[in-house]
Amino acid sequence: MPTAPADSDAPTDLLGLDFDALEQLVTGRFGAPRYRARQLWDGIHRQGRRNIDDIATLPAQLRHEIGAECIVTSLEPVVRLTSADRSTDKALYRLPDGELIETVLMRYFADGHRRPRKTVCVSSQAGCALGCTFCATGQQGFRRQLTVGEIVGQVIDMQRVANADDGSGESGITNVVFMGMGEPLANYDNTLAAIRIINDARGIGIGARHITVSTVGLVPPMLRLAREGIQVNLAVSLHAPDDATRSETVPINRRYPLSELISACHQYVEMTGRRIFFEYVLLRGQNDSIDHAERLGGLLTGLNCHVNLIPVNPTGDGPYGRTKRGDALRFQSELKTWGVPSTVRMEKGIDIDAGCGQLRARVLDEEGLPTDTARTSVA
Ligand code: SAH
Ligand code: SF4
Repeated sequence: MPTAPADSDAPTDLLGLDFDALEQLVTGRFGAPRYRARQLWDGIHRQGRRNIDDIATLPAQLRHEIGAECIVTSLEPVVRLTSADRSTDKALYRLPDGELIETVLMRYFADGHRRPRKTVCVSSQAGCALGCTFCATGQQGFRRQLTVGEIVGQVIDMQRVANADDGSGESGITNVVFMGMGEPLANYDNTLAAIRIINDARGIGIGARHITVSTVGLVPPMLRLAREGIQVNLAVSLHAPDDATRSETVPINRRYPLSELISACHQYVEMTGRRIFFEYVLLRGQNDSIDHAERLGGLLTGLNCHVNLIPVNPTGDGPYGRTKRGDALRFQSELKTWGVPSTVRMEKGIDIDAGCGQLRARVLDEEGLPTDTARTSVA
């Protein structure tokens, strides 16, 4: 079961309920006919209403009754930034208890014909306990799990931003990746519940194949995910081809070493029939030599996978330099000789600190946190 809010007297968060649970609430606790549940669901998930009173299709009496016992988590950014090329928006939200989380919207207009791809990168935890050395979130430590409503709420807020792009309301988000702050598989139940809500065709309706869960490599929940029978993509943050190199930057490698992790990846591919993705952040002089590429090729050859090579986003005082594009391309060529497909991904939104946890780190470093919602273009 998804974790309940800390305070059991707290009002029910409607954004944390899937369609069936919402229907049960409306017909059971409030004694209304079933179609009222659909109207409530549409108001929240399709129209993005934050206030139950604004759902005009519902009778005033029912709105009043529901409003007295329930809330809709509504995330209001304290800072919103747009990159100079306008491809990327980033929001920093302050949660009711003061925690700060980040969400990024990335637009890809490359293919011209079809509707543009718009990917939302969501956070699954405030902070992260796993302490990867190049990650701004990891360096800040674990704060708390996000609720289902707080995960879904990020998507709903960014849906509003995406819909406003061309004013038509028809240009919403197409993909969701769990690559923001936190480790989604360490908040398993809430992540899965949020995925089912985001995926529901009656609501936001992001196809499972357009949802990606990124994990640092927690083996037991990876295998549990494989058994769920939900067609989401799994990305594993690998970052090294051997235990010695990986343990330097990814401490959890000592608990789940590469032999176990890669064997779990093989099981995942066998159980789901799906390709697995690997994230490999290139850290200059740490994991980006041709020798590393050769060993990575040897490790992954024969596995149905795709590797994303990502030159590190500098995190301020972090010790790591960015691998040069030419070196990244040479790394990629070496992988190719092993039959391992890969993409070199230059990160979007680098001028607005769009790497995980970086905006939060910068805001906290400054003296005071801005309290007004601001839309700032960083040119
Ligand atoms: N905890 C999960 C998901 C969140 S991190 C995981 O680790 O996979 C999402 C991705 O961002 C991971 O692949 C992570 O390694 C990567 N990442 C973290 N810090 C980064 C940085 N400074 N530059 C580039 N990628 C980074
Ligand atoms: Fe946590 Fe992922 Fe950052 Fe590692 S990279 S500290 S697992 S958020």
